[in-house]
Amino acid sequence: MLDLYREYEYMKNDIDLSIQKCLQHQKWILGPEVQELEEKISSYVGARHCIGVSSGTEALVLSLRALAIKRKGEEYFDRNDLIITTPFTFTATGDAILRAGATPAFVDVDPITYNIDPAKIREFLAHGGSTTRGPSNVVGLIPVHLYGRPCEMNQIMDIAKEHRLFVVEDVAQAFGAVWEGKKAGSIGDAGAFSFFPSKNLGGFGDGGMISTNDDEIDRLVRMLIKHGGRDKYNVQHVGYNARLDTIQASVLQAKLKYVNEFNARRNQIAARYNAGLAGIGGIRLPTADQTGQAGTGNHVFHQYTIRVLNDKRDRLKKALADRQIETMVYYPVPLHQMALFDNGDQGGRLREAETAAREVLSLPIEPLMGNDEITSVVDAVKNALK
Ligand SMILES: *Cc1c(COP(=O)(O)O)cnc(C)c1O
Repeated sequence: MLDLYREYEYMKNDIDLSIQKCLQHQKWILGPEVQELEEKISSYVGARHCIGVSSGTEALVLSLRALAIKRKGEEYFDRNDLIITTPFTFTATGDAILRAGATPAFVDVDPITYNIDPAKIREFLAHGGSTTRGPSNVVGLIPVHLYGRPCEMNQIMDIAKEHRLFVVEDVAQAFGAVWEGKKAGSIGDAGAFSFFPSKNLGGFGDGGMISTNDDEIDRLVRMLIKHGGRDKYNVQHVGYNARLDTIQASVLQAKLKYVNEFNARRNQIAARYNAGLAGIGGIRLPTADQTGQAGTGNHVFHQYTIRVLNDKRDRLKKALADRQIETMVYYPVPLHQMALFDNGDQGGRLREAETAAREVLSLPIEPLMGNDEITSVVDAVKNALK
């Protein structure tokens, strides 16, 4: 799906220079590059604070832990505390909720954007839940900007305000995405970014970042990433070893220079796919943003994901594989159907997520793809669906 070596070659000088600096100073733990990256991303995203952490998953867990300490005065949330999120996401989103002590409450997605549907959040808050845990147990929301497309943040923030809920944005797939002039990750109480190598801004290993405008969350997260104390011998909280590596920060600083160019290129590739695949029966193409207009820069197309109707998704995937075109299914199993979450039979309440899991297919999208490569994918899809 992704040719990371091609990207490395494209920015080799910047990356090599950056790594060389680390080899010179040997400050591998919280070296100067970490703070430099935090400052750069803080001004890029438009959030007062950014804290480098060891992965996107830890960014979610740490944000939630800081919120439990801040809002409840407890180390962890309680099993009866519900955090609303989408079932159509990577496992880590739900897993982080469990690790912070709370229980995920899954709310269905919008069938066009695949993001959590604000109307259904309202429905849940009006009369959702089970007999033991209901709307009054909800403490927060985790919207996931899936595939690089920002969620409907105006409605989500309105709901949060009305019900006094916190909002942690899962920005793992949406570095640089914009919602009404604001960068994803600058809108909620905190944003959780991932620098997993395949993400729009990816390192040479695991890494992540938390963005926040809240001084208290910043202070708490900075303690939690290094064992939970102000220093090694004054420990107040159950902490982690969850720092961002200096060397990852150095690579990410070099790659950050290219992120706007690469996100723009992803939008161009998506537009080219949309033009090439327009009018083919049996598939549905992604729109550029919430309003369906191209070119506003909202969506950063971490994935270019089509919908294959009439149970033909797996057949198309195989036909493309036969022509050496690798595609992916994000995600084949919605979280509520996994043993870990085991929300049982939802009685069709999460139908859009379940249908999407059967129908979505992500085509190759990579900033340095040539137009000839895009054309050959388009031709292969056309041929397969003939
Ligand atoms: C990648 C991803 C994560 C986890 O990030 P890691 O850095 O791999 O831990 C969390 N949520 C979503 C939606 C992701 O795509």
